Amino acid sequence: MDLPVDLPLKEILPGILMFTLPVDYGIDHVNIYLIRDGEGWCLFDTGADCEAARALWLRALAGPLVGGLTRIIVSHHHPDHLGLAAWLAQITGAKILMRPEEREVARAIRMLDETSRRHGIDFMLRHGLSLGEAEGIVSGVLQENLGCDEPPPGTSLENGQRLQIGDFGFDVLVLGGHSIAQICLYEPALKLLLTGDQLLERITPNVGVWPYGEPHPLPRYIDSLLVISGLPIEHVLPAHHRVYHAGEARAHGLLAHHQRALRRFKEGLREGMSAVDLGEVSYGKQSEALHRFLSMGETLAHLLWLEGDGHVRSSEDAGVLRWAPIQRSDQPTVQI
Ligand SMILES: [Zn+2]
Repeated sequence: MDLPVDLPLKEILPGILMFTLPVDYGIDHVNIYLIRDGEGWCLFDTGADCEAARALWLRALAGPLVGGLTRIIVSHHHPDHLGLAAWLAQITGAKILMRPEEREVARAIRMLDETSRRHGIDFMLRHGLSLGEAEGIVSGVLQENLGCDEPPPGTSLENGQRLQIGDFGFDVLVLGGHSIAQICLYEPALKLLLTGDQLLERITPNVGVWPYGEPHPLPRYIDSLLVISGLPIEHVLPAHHRVYHAGEARAHGLLAHHQRALRRFKEGLREGMSAVDLGEVSYGKQSEALHRFLSMGETLAHLLWLEGDGHVRSSEDAGVLRWAPIQRSDQPTVQI
């Protein structure tokens, strides 16, 4: 397929395009994918809502994507995936396919009423952030950076469902851990996996406890890596950085990463630490609010795993959850 050189559109395989769009917070780009679907294209993720991304979309829709969008699959609620769904559905008429849990979390994140705002702040105070930090994160990180316009109602996709897109037959995988129910698509004939953020090559997907969504994400993320590592994979099409090929090896690499992280958290924990305190020991003191929030959530996800395995315990002290190691002579080693 001939593609204009001034658009960041690339043909990965015949009928499958990667569109790399700018993102104006956290990470600087996101890859979204277009799959030939009759005369038009089925879109997998939409890009973040920023002016530069909208401008690229308008040029693409007037040029190589003039056949329009048939369907928009939203892998999960994070803004570089969901951000432009409402706008694209409006200008193209494409139907939305999205898990209801992800829609619900996207709604909760915007914390439009006082009760949900209070819930977000209380959650962060409980895990060791100060009131000023918690208020700043709710209005800044959550509402401003992570909140997205809600797309029109659509349909859901089910784990194990076969989804025909043009000539391609995809198996739907609904995987937890990074978000509550992330959709990944696997094409067995091509051994191709569209991963969203579930499996990235150069960065470790965030697996954290947030004020809403999955309360115990690490076991679900580990399960998802076991599912992925059981698939024959030749092409991994991720949301960030380049397409790569060693999907199974990367899944094993991420399992080892979390095993090491569990050990590190266990060794770093001292009596009375909150999740924020232990996060600082492990990741260093983060200056940016977004990173402080993510560090708290990741630390908490690992602490909950260690608590389930009898390595640590928690107790509440003046509204803050504090953690302590459990010293036992028969203590098993930390393992996944
Ligand atoms: Zn994400």
